[in-house]
Amino acid sequence: SRKFFVGGNWKLNGDKKSLGELMDTMNAAKVDPNVEVVCGAPSIYLDFVRSKLDAKFGVAAQNCYKVAKGAFTGEISPVMIKDCGVNWVILGHSRDATSSERLIGQKTAHALESGLSVIACIGEKLDEREGGITEKVVFAQTKVIADNVKDWSKVVLAYEPVWAIGTGKTASPQQAQEVHDKLRGWLKANVSEAVASSVRIIYGGSVTGATCKELASQKDVDGFLVGGASLKPEIIEIINAKL
Ligand code: 13P
Repeated sequence: SRKFFVGGNWKLNGDKKSLGELMDTMNAAKVDPNVEVVCGAPSIYLDFVRSKLDAKFGVAAQNCYKVAKGAFTGEISPVMIKDCGVNWVILGHSRDATSSERLIGQKTAHALESGLSVIACIGEKLDEREGGITEKVVFAQTKVIADNVKDWSKVVLAYEPVWAIGTGKTASPQQAQEVHDKLRGWLKANVSEAVASSVRIIYGGSVTGATCKELASQKDVDGFLVGGASLKPEIIEIINAKL
């Protein structure tokens, strides 16, 4: 069975003081041992976060580049992330505004080849949902990822409808379940039955302590990628959604 997965995506938030307090709260909290927790920290704080956060929690970078080194000002690479003791990277968040689909694919391949695990984000925009092309969009995005993955045990697929991110408009449990089920169907048809049944598909978009339990009870919702609420003690409630 699939281990429940809760990712926090801190985005461009916090400083050493506030993140330090958040980590004190997380380190001291009673958390469900059957949940894998990974915090996505700003790259400049990866070292700080990895040294302060309890070892039972994982840490993720929020992006990385497609090669290990070179004249790419401002970029960070998987080897640097691993050098900070960090084992995860979030890729394609809101389809990575500055990257093409091709570059997101290249980043995915390079991160995995470098030994990082990847939280790969997909999701349709509001006009795409209203236009009835949600499936077409998320399948195409999933294909870009799938074309670059050999070992699916290192990948968590995060379904984050763009209209639900930071808007307070959580997808309904039924809306999330429907897309997750369709994604599993796509994986079964295009990758393998084993991958379709083992890969974790998590939901992101305005997840809160109040909305997490019903979402978590859906058959194909294997966890969450949490933005705003991951910066508050509320994240503990979300980690413990299945208890
Ligand atoms: P919010 O939880 O703030 O809507 O953000 C979701 C998200 O983008 C997580 O990656």
